[in-house]
Amino acid sequence: MRLSRMGAVVSAAVLATSLAACGSSEKTVDKEAGAVDNKGALIGVTMPTRSSERWISDGENLQKQLEALGYKVDLQYAEDKIPTQTQQLDNQITKKAKLLIIASIDGTAITTQLENAKANKIPVIAYDRLIRNSPNVDYYATFDNFKVGVQQATSLLTGLKVLKADGSAGDAKGPFNIELFAGSPDDNNATFFFNGAMSVLKPKIDDGTLVVKSKQTDFKTVAILRWQAKTAQDRMENLLTSTYRGGAKVDGVLSPYDGLSIGILSALKSNGYGTAAQPWPVVTGQDAEQASVKSIKRNEQYSTIYKDTRELAKTTVAMADAVLKGQQPKTNNTTDYDNGVKVVPSMLLESVIVDKENYKKELVDTGYYTEAQLS
Ligand code: BGC
Repeated sequence: MRLSRMGAVVSAAVLATSLAACGSSEKTVDKEAGAVDNKGALIGVTMPTRSSERWISDGENLQKQLEALGYKVDLQYAEDKIPTQTQQLDNQITKKAKLLIIASIDGTAITTQLENAKANKIPVIAYDRLIRNSPNVDYYATFDNFKVGVQQATSLLTGLKVLKADGSAGDAKGPFNIELFAGSPDDNNATFFFNGAMSVLKPKIDDGTLVVKSKQTDFKTVAILRWQAKTAQDRMENLLTSTYRGGAKVDGVLSPYDGLSIGILSALKSNGYGTAAQPWPVVTGQDAEQASVKSIKRNEQYSTIYKDTRELAKTTVAMADAVLKGQQPKTNNTTDYDNGVKVVPSMLLESVIVDKENYKKELVDTGYYTEAQLS
């Protein structure tokens, strides 16, 4: 008797969850008629690495906000190792997690785990990075990644004074020597950032305002596997000692992530940049990591892109909570994020260009950091 009742509740829960996961259910499943009871359910959260501040905050924010709603959380970091992440997902499925929130390392490498999740009726939310080549991804929460790239390139042009802060044409005409970097080729975001940036830079390369002196402009050549600072530093060193050996100067560097910017700045420093005679080029970034905001305050890195990870966690937690209650989560984009098998319904948040002028307003006044953390 007890068992069969439980069976009925479980199948109602499973049905509601899979309906919500398919995005075809508008309403909460009627509590009276065999409600979805996922109160206190275990949620598996997998993050790529602790080597970058942003993922630490993402994980902490998700855990705190999910626990505040009464869920249990299994939070794991994989230190950028794919086998570690797949094992963590296997464990979470074995522990009977009711939902998985995944920030993948390689968006194509967890297909087997997702098949297993599907077989166990466990819905999956891709967190910040799209999971590719699998039908078993229900929702995606992220920022407008193409726009992040547009913002990076715009701020590069503002730093070079080709554009004014209000977006109108600036006084500088160039030509300026720039070099391009992109993120990890296995992270879908990296392509979006790069394409967004190139949508702004390409016309300026074509009209001669910007010159990529190394001629390295295709994504594959400029991409930095696993977003490693050291790899970016080595590539910048190589560019400086080959392309710029004859005395030409680098005026700007498109860097897609603060960690890479730090590596790029070190290579520049060891080649004599950062002095009155040879000022820093304009170097961009992303994530508003503390070390980079400090660097911006010292006039080294020029800008970063602030993505409020508290908001991303809030959006994702609301999605998870809706799915676990048998409701349809809110999304605002059902066209852009095709993962190779399906278009994943997404919720995209807005990012902000941060430089020395506005870091206080954006990062301190909003409570993201204290001024002391940036001193
Ligand atoms: C994230 C960026 C981050 C990068 C490196 C990307 O997937 O969207 O915010 O800079 O990974 O961690």
